[in-house]
Amino acid sequence: MDWFGRHRRPLPWRRSRDPYRIWVAEVLLQQTRVAHAVPYYERFLARFPTVHSLANARPSTVLKLWQGVGYYSRARHLHAAARVIVRERAGRFPRTVDELENLPGIGPYIARAIAALAFNAPVVALEANGRRVAARWWAERGDVRSLRVSQRLARRLEEVLPAHRADQFNEALMELGETICRPRDPKCARCPVRRHCRAYALLDDPGSLPRSGKREPRPHVVAAVIVAESGGRYLVQRRPPTGLLGGLYEFPGGKVGARETAREAARREWTEEVGTSAPSLAGAGVVRHAYGHFTVELHIFRGRVSADRQPTLRREQRWVRPNELMRLPLPRATEKIAEKLGIGEPVVRIGIGA
Ligand code: SF4
Repeated sequence: MDWFGRHRRPLPWRRSRDPYRIWVAEVLLQQTRVAHAVPYYERFLARFPTVHSLANARPSTVLKLWQGVGYYSRARHLHAAARVIVRERAGRFPRTVDELENLPGIGPYIARAIAALAFNAPVVALEANGRRVAARWWAERGDVRSLRVSQRLARRLEEVLPAHRADQFNEALMELGETICRPRDPKCARCPVRRHCRAYALLDDPGSLPRSGKREPRPHVVAAVIVAESGGRYLVQRRPPTGLLGGLYEFPGGKVGARETAREAARREWTEEVGTSAPSLAGAGVVRHAYGHFTVELHIFRGRVSADRQPTLRREQRWVRPNELMRLPLPRATEKIAEKLGIGEPVVRIGIGA
């Protein structure tokens, strides 16, 4: 903690002990690196400075602000939990781990982080950085991604947690993992805890811990997408509110089956989703994108729908002008398609897209 007092980075979420701000930061940081999270954090807080302002926002506004950091269920859960806090608790933030875990999208780590950082509750919030430091500190050889090992490490840390300083302790642990005890090539020579570190004492390469099981390869999805235009407007549809990329807008389309070409899939998807036979389709190239948990290869087809062949749209479908399209919350791959086809103004991005 002395080391942390001297070396802590001046990150924007460290300026305040406000549980709302800590919560937003922790949710962002769960799947986004610090450098990329900072501008999104500042933009989110500028637009929604309080839990009340977030609760009162429209879902599509929240999703649009989240566009570019990915894992949109995080934004949907933030919004849902803000509404619970405002409607059921008059805006008062829960203070205990149990109460916090009852909110939508708040799991054990975030609940502990808020309890420790905002309310100084005597708990350890163990994310990937802290887990790595702890695993090396005790030369843990088990798989740290398993619940059993992770809980063992958290219990050990709680035994050495200093009274009334849980906020500092947790932040110091995370900072040590982020800046010194890096996943590869830990900077042991500069490490403030190396005198007590068992990996440093026992191993030629302390970075060889923690061991983890093999990662599954990311699934790869091949899909056909139809960019249909009618009178200067484009057909888009909103995805179901929950699940993958929930609530975001995209062009009609879907997976290419094992026994069909991308063009056949495009025609089939159009009929299934729009309810008419597909317009004449022209190939417009391929867009590839890697999301955090899967990769996509989108085969794009353009089509024109004449005024006398207008389909009856479903509730989640609409024709939009290019500038309206760019104001909707879009998956990054859809944004890439619009950019490739020159539809709408280029989007100003403030971080690495997800
Ligand atoms: S001594 Fe090295 S391995 Fe041990 S905690 Fe410090 S940086 Fe990590």
